[in-house]
Amino acid sequence: METTNKEVKILQHFVNGRDFSGNSNRFQDIHDPSNAECIAKAPLANQQDVATAVAQAKKAFPAWANTPPAKRAAIMFRFRELLLKNSGHIAEILSREHGKTLEDASGSLARGIEVVEFCTSITTHLRSDFSAQVSSNIDSYNLRQPLGVCAGITPFNFPAMVPMWMFPVALSAGNTFVLKPSEKDPSTSLYLAKLLSQAGLPDGVLNVVIGDKITVDAILEHDDIKAVSFVGSTAVGEYIYHKGSANNKRVQALCGAKNHMLIMPDADIEKTAQALIGSVYGSAGERCMAVSVAVTVGDEVADALLQKLIPKVKNLKIGPYYMKGVEMGPLITKESLERTRGYLKAGQEQGATLVLNGDETKLQVQGCENGYFIGGSIFDKVKPNMSIYTDEIFGPVLSIVRAASYQEALELINNHEYGNGAAIFTKSGAAARHFTHNVQIGMVGVNVPIPVPVAYHSFGGWKRSLFGSSAIHGMEGIRFYTKLKTVTARWLDDVKDMAQFHFKAGSDS
Ligand code: NAD
Repeated sequence: METTNKEVKILQHFVNGRDFSGNSNRFQDIHDPSNAECIAKAPLANQQDVATAVAQAKKAFPAWANTPPAKRAAIMFRFRELLLKNSGHIAEILSREHGKTLEDASGSLARGIEVVEFCTSITTHLRSDFSAQVSSNIDSYNLRQPLGVCAGITPFNFPAMVPMWMFPVALSAGNTFVLKPSEKDPSTSLYLAKLLSQAGLPDGVLNVVIGDKITVDAILEHDDIKAVSFVGSTAVGEYIYHKGSANNKRVQALCGAKNHMLIMPDADIEKTAQALIGSVYGSAGERCMAVSVAVTVGDEVADALLQKLIPKVKNLKIGPYYMKGVEMGPLITKESLERTRGYLKAGQEQGATLVLNGDETKLQVQGCENGYFIGGSIFDKVKPNMSIYTDEIFGPVLSIVRAASYQEALELINNHEYGNGAAIFTKSGAAARHFTHNVQIGMVGVNVPIPVPVAYHSFGGWKRSLFGSSAIHGMEGIRFYTKLKTVTARWLDDVKDMAQFHFKAGSDS
């Protein structure tokens, strides 16, 4: 249970099915981004706290791994019901700490629930290949067995969905898990773990430790952790991938992005502008699949697009998550706000045209004067060498790059260091087909601005958007959280030996 101290909640870790205060004596303040008030204090786990969580997960592993997959699936069914029943409450917890609108919070939770639904079919996903008579009286088959204790390290921007890309898949495959959510908004993960306990998950199978780099390093150095899933920024992901791999762990690290939308001259400009509004400014641009670059083929497309976009962006309703009809909330922290402001300045200094400056948007909501709000911005005539183009801003800023041809636009996208998502907007099947086959990107949309794969497909970028070889959830997720064993078996060469079982030699009935 959280304890209350002058309205500021003191959070605890969740280990072995109960609250765990740990003994680090280090805390991080959690702020409501809409008014900058401190609403909670989160403990930051030290090496010993991590060791306690891992020891419980290790103890729980043999019985859980031995639990029939159908029984593990039954817990996932009950978990899904509890998630649906409590979805409004979860969205509220999430929005209060993160700042995103309740609609965005509910939408992302729904995508997490889809992963749980995928895991209710774990019996099917774990079925193996069988080859009869690979040689005389010899059959061969595969087993997919759990790894042991796995860990997940997650970012602030999707406090429900991203952890749910990981632990439902790992658990239903028979692993136990230690989750380290972002220290900026950990309450959703704690609540999800408690719901899973209510659904019947045995103690110790899922543990949540809140923490920072010290906690992450303890995870990466712990011998009993067999695999690490990471989602977050590229600098941290690359570090985690190398350190985890050096310590002989299986690592998948899904990282930063710069997602382009290529707009062909035949695209419907009104529909494209509408698609950009949701995909650039939704969640205040704090999505790894947010579109942050529109590449127009021809100047006419850029001019027509700007005409449609500017009034829509100006009219975005910005405010706290609880405000009726709100379309965009604040950024997560003051640092994020300052970082975005820094890019607005840098873009102008480097020669781009700031056609709409979100920092000039006046927000007047009583009680939110100190919130980390900024309006939507648009840069035009952005060049590939500018930092607003090369860097992931992670704020509500769109850069328009004017390309002379489709080929130039495609090359631009392929030359970017990130390769998470990209979309083409066009009415031409030929252009769409060429794009999907030739773009160097992991997740591609055709007239779909944010092509996030559904739970039974897998999510993952290319280039510096993913380190390791495995995408997340779907069958790639099942493979990541299991190890392959191949059995080659010979039985009773001589049918006469079967007499003891009352088989009639020579009978095939
Ligand atoms: P972040 O990298 O700062 O933090 C992610 C996690 O790493 C957190 O749990 C944090 O505590 C931990 N961490 C932070 N600094 C660390 C360090 N020096 N050493 C070890 N661990 C550290 O990311 P964020 O700001 O929370 O999230 C935003 C980033 O996540 C963006 O770059 C976004 O693109 C990315 N993201 C990627 C995907 C994807 O699927 N590719 C999805 C969501 C978010």
